[in-house]
Amino acid sequence: MSKRVVIVGGVAAGMKTAARLRRLDAEAEIIVLERGPQLSYGACGFPYFISGEVKSMDSFDHTPQGALRDSNYFAAVKGIDARCGCNVQKIDREQKCVLYLEKGELKQLSYDVLVLATGSTPVKLPLPNADAAGIHSFWFPWDVEAVDKEIAEGGVKDVVIIGAGFIGLELAEAFVRRGLHTSVLEQQDRLLPQLLDEDMAALLLRDTKNPLLDIYLEERAGAFTIENGKVSGVQTDKRVIPAQLVIVAVGVRPNVELAREAGLVIGPSGCIAVNEYLQTSDDAIYAGGDCAENTHRVSGAKVFVPMGSTANKHGRVIADNICGAQRKYPGVLGTAAC
Ligand SMILES: Cc1cc2nc3c(=O)[nH]c(=O)nc-3n(C[C@H](O)[C@H](O)[C@H](O)COP(=O)(O)OP(=O)(O)OC[C@H]3O[C@@H](n4cnc5c(N)ncnc54)[C@H](O)[C@@H]3O)c2cc1C
Repeated sequence: MSKRVVIVGGVAAGMKTAARLRRLDAEAEIIVLERGPQLSYGACGFPYFISGEVKSMDSFDHTPQGALRDSNYFAAVKGIDARCGCNVQKIDREQKCVLYLEKGELKQLSYDVLVLATGSTPVKLPLPNADAAGIHSFWFPWDVEAVDKEIAEGGVKDVVIIGAGFIGLELAEAFVRRGLHTSVLEQQDRLLPQLLDEDMAALLLRDTKNPLLDIYLEERAGAFTIENGKVSGVQTDKRVIPAQLVIVAVGVRPNVELAREAGLVIGPSGCIAVNEYLQTSDDAIYAGGDCAENTHRVSGAKVFVPMGSTANKHGRVIADNICGAQRKYPGVLGTAAC
């Protein structure tokens, strides 16, 4: 009898696992449960939509031939049952099933193999007025559309980006290209503080000189100022920086609640612990992408390195191993380009 593989999360790691699995096993029943409205989109390109280099949001979830990668597409072209709007609530490891909510109804689905590809969630800043209009994360397609709409409506002259990591800096470049005065606020003493030493960060800082760009290092956001319910600025420990649009890009946290509640081991990095075959502490459950722990190939440390490139590699390895390949994932170096 063919095995049923249930995958939780339908973007990078989840859909890569599903697609690779289908290539390797024509018989497997592959069901993807995604709580959001979209499947298999490429978030890495989002800043280039804001800059105007990518012309349409369709570029992120359509094939090069123009087909939308939705449930119908995956059913017809890949033989994968990928369901949106299905929020997995619980894993019952004894019964080997998951409970999920679809349109308010609690449903149950059994599995032979379960794959957790639940990704990560942007960190929010618990500051006064953090819910005001004009303050955004930049993670999901709807965040991107909301930011673009506000700029297109014409009310935005000044943008503040909180956080000088990859997403913060890619967006700074995008807003400057769009002609907006942009301020980047970073509480640490350098750009890309998770990645660069002081000397390398100094070279990068030198190359960011632009009349439309201000960079404030060693400065912390303390509150958002508002006017008529809308953000008007960011109050720091040194000044108020005017802003009609604010992006909070202070990092992400792995989505591990389902795994934790099911009693799976969570590693020292805060991600789901996996062995070199990307199996969790339960042999029948794999984890890949942002929610899964990585081993650093130099230091051997357990690390949280949330990258789409890694998520795709995890997906391949998981699919191979579900098909019996015993393929090892050697870990990450933490390299990246932006
Ligand atoms: C603006 C931006 C730029 C980026 N640039 C790069 C880059 O240049 N290079 C790079 O390598 N990476 C980049 N990334 C990171 C990359 O997009 C992520 O690392 C990647 O998407 C992680 O894939 P994933 O499958 O683990 O998680 P995700 O893509 O986050 O997908 C997880 C999915 O699981 C779903 N889910 C979670 N819990 C449940 C549940 N209980 N039930 C059902 N569904 C659930 C979520 O709704 C989500 O859709 C960027 C990200 C952003 C936002």
